[in-house]
Amino acid sequence: MVSTQPPAVQRLPAPPAAETVLAHIGATPLVRLNRIPQSLGIEAKVYAKCEFFNSGGSVKDRIALRMIEEAEKSGRIKPGDTLIEPTSGNTGIGLALVSAVKGYRCIITLPEKMSAEKVSVLRALGAEIVRTPTEAAFDSPESHIGVAKRLQQEIPNSHILDQYANPNNPLAHELGTAEEIWSQTEGHVDAIVAGAGTGGTITGIAKGIRKHNPDATIIAADPIGSILAVPESLNTSHEGYKVEGIGYDFIPDVLDQNIVNTWIKTNDKASFLYARRLIREEGLLCGGSSGSAISALVEALTTTHKELNDPSKTVVVVLPDSVRNYITKFVDDAWMSSNEFTDNSPSWSSATIKD
Ligand code: PMP
Repeated sequence: MVSTQPPAVQRLPAPPAAETVLAHIGATPLVRLNRIPQSLGIEAKVYAKCEFFNSGGSVKDRIALRMIEEAEKSGRIKPGDTLIEPTSGNTGIGLALVSAVKGYRCIITLPEKMSAEKVSVLRALGAEIVRTPTEAAFDSPESHIGVAKRLQQEIPNSHILDQYANPNNPLAHELGTAEEIWSQTEGHVDAIVAGAGTGGTITGIAKGIRKHNPDATIIAADPIGSILAVPESLNTSHEGYKVEGIGYDFIPDVLDQNIVNTWIKTNDKASFLYARRLIREEGLLCGGSSGSAISALVEALTTTHKELNDPSKTVVVVLPDSVRNYITKFVDDAWMSSNEFTDNSPSWSSATIKD
């Protein structure tokens, strides 16, 4: 651990009273990383966009609110209707939270792989949950997507807002997250690093930031086992992986793969160990995919994008969700060692680790 002390605390004013908790979706903190980059010889200023501060605990609250509000404006949905969504959990939590506040019935179809913690939060928010086999192909009737489509046909006044194709998914980031990052950095953004699931986050932030800085470098993390990365030759494995919320076995419509300058394949072990370091060394209570984004950042700045590794450069990394979702998973030492993710090699954080 780097022993230098971070600068003195500058307290920020409390935001004004809000009419509902939905007012606390977006406007998330941007926080400098003071130890991890420095310990790895990274000289660029690295800031974390802390999406776990959203009301429901993740970046996906933004798209849940925007998809619902835009569907209300267009007359497609009204309170009392049923919202059904296939998700890896966080979009479900966002939709369930907005549904609880606005008065919708919410049904979430969720692959078995996703954590029990997400299920508990969804239940607490009043959502009904249908678990589906993780290994089901996206276009099979048993998958979370297939089951959602069947339920939508069976239940009257039900709607799938469909985060995979809904333009309000990337728009929430183009008009929201990206503008926040631009103003929080006072117009100094040289690169963005984020993981891709639906791709809404990376596509929307890239579009929004490039309006201000057309030369901004966009770096995406894609787990080994997923097929989102370009060129396709990077996607050599189709094995399952344990990091939740990023990677897919199909290309979602909202993902613009070519808006990304460089795709970096990430592995479970480095992802979870970096997530634990974000918590332990930076005090950022994030989830596993945040570690994947850090892993991609480290690899990019030390190999493919050395030009960014300079004190004059500012890099923003998106931390999508909260430790709350993973208390019985990567946060737990026994879970880490039973999965052989324990830090038993001094070089695990090396940018070249691929196992
Ligand atoms: N990390 C986590 C934990 C997520 O739940 C998601 C959403 N699937 C992402 C990253 C990726 O976000 P996006 O769908 O916008 O690509």
